[in-house]
Amino acid sequence: MEVTSDFYNLVEETSSKLYIKALKDLPPDVRIGLKAAYERETSTTGLQILNTMLENVKIADSQTRLICQDTGIPIYFVKVGDKLRLSMCQLEEAIVKGTARATTEHPFRSSVVSPLKRQNNQNSTGYRIPVIHYQFVKDSEDLEILMVPKGSGSENMSFLKMLIPADGLRGVKRHILETIIGMGANPCPPYTVGIGLGGTSDLCMKLAKIASTTRELDSKNSDPEMAELEQELLEAINSLKIGPMGLGGVNTAMAVHIEHAYTHITQNPVGINIQCWPARRARAILKANGNIEYGY
Ligand code: SF4
Repeated sequence: MEVTSDFYNLVEETSSKLYIKALKDLPPDVRIGLKAAYERETSTTGLQILNTMLENVKIADSQTRLICQDTGIPIYFVKVGDKLRLSMCQLEEAIVKGTARATTEHPFRSSVVSPLKRQNNQNSTGYRIPVIHYQFVKDSEDLEILMVPKGSGSENMSFLKMLIPADGLRGVKRHILETIIGMGANPCPPYTVGIGLGGTSDLCMKLAKIASTTRELDSKNSDPEMAELEQELLEAINSLKIGPMGLGGVNTAMAVHIEHAYTHITQNPVGINIQCWPARRARAILKANGNIEYGY
């Protein structure tokens, strides 16, 4: 189906709304995860921290405020139905404009700067930002946009290690746990650990990002072996007792998600990306006829 010029206006409007929604409205699965963490917590300090987080979410709801001051780097995961006839350049332009509009019209802090001069355009955009990932979907007329504001405390805790096959699964687990210990409180626990296994160096890190930011908290990998590894790592990470905001307790991670790809015969890459406790995301599905469904 051929889209009209109105469709790009709709993409711009939707991208803007999604950024604001993601900053203010915590997904239901994350709210459930935080409450479950509170129920499980045994440390007094851990309970106080989790209680503060739950209060924070309540205040953000009642006063329509941002959940966290860190407005993050804007990331969009876009799924394009192969039956939509559209200009990818105009689509991208609309998402960039929507990002800028959200920032200046709301308004909220632009957290995006150039790497050398640290120049801030004050609209959350810049060269190659927002980050936009595309995926194409067979037999679909829909355009799905998932918006993720990625805070720096968790994004700074991103690591790639090119292990070798001889390191085996034991080496992979060891590396993940050692890296988590080194992170301490930095990624604002209790967090979601995203693990990328396999691929090339760049694909491995992208898989880790998909794992940490796009899935519902209680989702399991569809491959039973991967799902088992997710559970084993979750238990091992929580046994470290880093706890909420690193002040001790049984809730360091609310979830471990793994995404994988085949890799080279001589490689064994492991990517780690963390999503902090307010695992913010907002989703919209745009139909070619202009209807929109909002979700998370
Ligand atoms: S890492 Fe997350 S929780 Fe921590 S300051 Fe940034 S957005 Fe907020």
